[in-house]
Amino acid sequence: MKPALFTYHRPGTLPDALALMAEHRGGARVLAGGQSLMPLMAMRMTRPEQLVDINRIDELKGIRDTGDTLTIGALTRYSEILRAPLIADSLPLLSEAIRHVAHHAIRNRGTIGGSLALADPSAETPATCLALCARIVARSSAGEREISVDAFFEGLMSTALAEDEILVAVRIPKRPAKVPHAFLEFARRKGDYAQAGIILAPSHGGVAENRAVVFGIGSTARRSAALEGAMTNGLSAEAKAALQQEVTAIIDDDEGAAYKLPIVMTLAERAMGRLKP
Ligand SMILES: Cc1cc2nc3c(=O)[nH]c(=O)nc-3n(C[C@H](O)[C@H](O)[C@H](O)COP(=O)(O)OP(=O)(O)OC[C@H]3O[C@@H](n4cnc5c(N)ncnc54)[C@H](O)[C@@H]3O)c2cc1C
Repeated sequence: MKPALFTYHRPGTLPDALALMAEHRGGARVLAGGQSLMPLMAMRMTRPEQLVDINRIDELKGIRDTGDTLTIGALTRYSEILRAPLIADSLPLLSEAIRHVAHHAIRNRGTIGGSLALADPSAETPATCLALCARIVARSSAGEREISVDAFFEGLMSTALAEDEILVAVRIPKRPAKVPHAFLEFARRKGDYAQAGIILAPSHGGVAENRAVVFGIGSTARRSAALEGAMTNGLSAEAKAALQQEVTAIIDDDEGAAYKLPIVMTLAERAMGRLKP
């Protein structure tokens, strides 16, 4: 199939892009890497009337050291993140996660901002940003705001971004390479979206709390209180029962629970094992 008719805009500056988003509020969509949006349009699962291509806007590209955090521009491609020494040194968990995203061709075009804005519950990047305590920077022609990742993912492929906002960057507290972490997922084939995944990010100087995230189940990646407790007290029989209860409550059909629950439980044991010195 081919997409429904749309008007294509390619602004050269962020203010011009924001003016278009404000003018066509609701009818306009941002085009970043196009790796998800173009197939969705081709299948007519979405029909934006106006497409605002942000690929010429240099201000949205690149990774900057901003003290205790790294600021990653929304239009930074997965492949650039994988190559960046700053990420290898200060956010190795993010590189590990992105190595699981799709294949080379998609990683060469797909962007961190596109993945966060899409908010797929099985995607690695939103889940990892949740584990890393990220802050999302959104801008509209009225100004800029920062949204905690805890409030950003609102439901299935739905975020706190307003219709006229562009996600401009994500700010992530640095996490030194020597601090342990665990990233584990199960996918049917290499490069597929995860059937289920677990991320453990123990507290460190920059983030005062243990963060554990389960993704690939339910409508959005979410923190697991059971696993966060287990990161301090061990994965006891009580902790396993609590995790089982959490996962069963998230998956609302029996068939899905029968398939995914054993995967999550196995990943949880393996992930906890990775944190041991
Ligand atoms: C075959 C295939 C396999 C894939 N496998 C995986 C996988 O295993 N794991 C995974 O995580 N992903 C996977 N993906 C998706 C890929 O990671 C996409 O690149 C990503 O989800 C979207 O990024 P994008 O830059 O291409 O965004 P686009 O497709 O351009 O946009 C996606 C959505 O986000 C919005 N958007 C984009 N940028 C912004 C912004 N800056 N501000 C506001 N809204 C914005 C768009 O309007 C659109 O609604 C796969 C894709 C394909 C085609």
